[in-house]
Amino acid sequence: MPSRRLHARIQHHPTMVVWALVVLMSACVLGLVAWKAALGREMALTRNEDDVRNLVHSLTQHAVHSFQAPDVAMGGLVDLLKYRKPESAARFNAYLANTVRSLPQLREIKVLDVNGDAIYSSGELQTHNNADRAYFHFHRDTPGNELRISGPFKSRTTGLPTIVLSKRISDAATGAFAGIVMATIPCDYFAGFYQSFRIGEHGAISLITGDGKVLARWPEGSSGRDLSGTPLFQTRLKQDPVGYYRITSPFDGIAKYFGYEQADRYPIVVTVARSEAQILAGWQQALRRDALVAFVLLLVVAGIATLLARQFHYRTRLEQSLCEREARYRLLAENIADIVLVLDARGVCRYVSQSIHAALGMTEDMVVGRSCLDFVHPDDHEIVANSGSLLDESSHSRSITFRVRRPDGSIVWLESNFRPARGLGPEGRSTVAVLRDVTQRKLLEDELSTATRRLAQLATTDGLTRLANRRSFDGFLREAYEHNSVLSVLMIDIDHFKGFNDTLGHQAGDDCLRQIAGAIDQIAARSGGQAARYGGEEFAVVLPGLTEERAMEIAEQLRQSVINLDIRHPAAPRGPVTISIGVADKQEIGSNDIALLRQADIALYRAKDAGRNRAVASTSLHSAEVASPPLADLDLAG
Ligand code: GH3
Ligand code: MG
Ligand code: MG
Repeated sequence: MPSRRLHARIQHHPTMVVWALVVLMSACVLGLVAWKAALGREMALTRNEDDVRNLVHSLTQHAVHSFQAPDVAMGGLVDLLKYRKPESAARFNAYLANTVRSLPQLREIKVLDVNGDAIYSSGELQTHNNADRAYFHFHRDTPGNELRISGPFKSRTTGLPTIVLSKRISDAATGAFAGIVMATIPCDYFAGFYQSFRIGEHGAISLITGDGKVLARWPEGSSGRDLSGTPLFQTRLKQDPVGYYRITSPFDGIAKYFGYEQADRYPIVVTVARSEAQILAGWQQALRRDALVAFVLLLVVAGIATLLARQFHYRTRLEQSLCEREARYRLLAENIADIVLVLDARGVCRYVSQSIHAALGMTEDMVVGRSCLDFVHPDDHEIVANSGSLLDESSHSRSITFRVRRPDGSIVWLESNFRPARGLGPEGRSTVAVLRDVTQRKLLEDELSTATRRLAQLATTDGLTRLANRRSFDGFLREAYEHNSVLSVLMIDIDHFKGFNDTLGHQAGDDCLRQIAGAIDQIAARSGGQAARYGGEEFAVVLPGLTEERAMEIAEQLRQSVINLDIRHPAAPRGPVTISIGVADKQEIGSNDIALLRQADIALYRAKDAGRNRAVASTSLHSAEVASPPLADLDLAG
């Protein structure tokens, strides 16, 4: 659960990862620097300890050797003077001077008598008395021939700090005090030697007597100081003649690492001190360099992290805006009544909006992965398949209407708008279709077209006889007249129809009109003509391609067929209902359709005038010859 929360937090704040990495890398870099620093410090201190210990040992050996040579020389002099006095003081003094020359550390060798007066000297024999010196008292009061190292004294001869080496001369016979042999070493001898070592600023090398008196020190300034109260003489030397430790210098108060060694032959101690700051100077320099490198590294890391964080931020915003956009499109696709489909190149549905449920009663699972044709009504397969192939050839959108059978068996009319889309689907080519349920509209359209057809029919058809009405007849005649060079027209009028109506009633009149219309229509159609109710009880027939002669034959057939209907006419003189017909031929009249009709009408009136129940051709009007009704008809009437 916490890991899921962390995952969610990372998803929402991806820059967190970057900064966590930065912190981790910074910790690593700093850790590395700290580790290296600790290691470097340790190494510097260890190396210093080795160096100091080695140096202390070497300098102790040097000091021992510096004292040992005079010790041997002075031992020889003591042995000599113990037994006899030199025969020649001058020659003995020369011998002493020679000895001093061969031992460069020595400045002077003197021999003092029991009173402390110099009796022999390697240099100029001084007159001053040394009986007040501590070393004199020591040798006078202490038997033994050990070398005593003391000082530093301010030389009475040179005024410079001097180390005094002294040995007692005991009388060979009695062992009584017989004077001392003393040699002086300038403190500068050691200080000058120590100066040649590079131990750094605040470093110091000291030569100290066993009881804590500083004999020589470099750098200068502390000769003669008593260090007997320091921890070195209080504790350290008592525990270990050789040592190394950290101190705060009693000379300058600076923290130092301090090495010491006590010579086993003489009571002298050599110390070497190096300041901690000096020891660690190289290490500190390396540390500063490492810190700088680490700082630069961290800056680079921080810079890269900033860039990365910005990139992450940008990507997050981009993803968010993409998600929002997708959600918006999805919202639109899911909530509009239209169905949105995405088909791949093979017509297989890859996406369908939820609206398919409300519109077609189907679920997304039923549709996705199946061919769109699976749902199309078989009669409309061709339309849909054709629209798909047409879409392949062009990039324009197409609109088709087709039927789909819902799962409950009902049919739904869908209007589909297809549009090719690129970049979707495995083949990179898809079709986006927006489907709309147009069933209601389709029904209304069907009703409308039926009504329109009916209206058109009503507008062109006579309601009583179902023949074309006069308006459509006029149009038909005009067209036929234009397109046919040979054309005849019949004008037909029912004879004495007013009487029929008045006698049998309007209803019977209508029945009579319907029967006669039927007979006219049948014969006209058989002859390739068009019949119409021209008005009241008048009819007209256009006979394209027929001459007047053929038209007269048709007229005769018409007249006969009406007679054959045998509709009783109580008010007519000859029994059944008859018709009169006027015939006009385009070839004869030839000016225009109206004139042609007018000629037929004139011929009709001539037929009426001539006694009705007959057909009159307009050409016969000029000859005033009107055909009489055939005898058979008359018989029938009679
Ligand atoms: P004629 O032989 O000279 O043509 O005499 P007629 O009586 O037929 O002519 P008229 O023009 O005097 O009368 C026509 C009659 O046709 C008048 C009218 O009563 C009748 N008529 C016209 N239209 C209709 C119709 O639609 N239905 C019925 N029943 N009668 C109609
Ligand atoms: Mg009439
Ligand atoms: Mg009439």
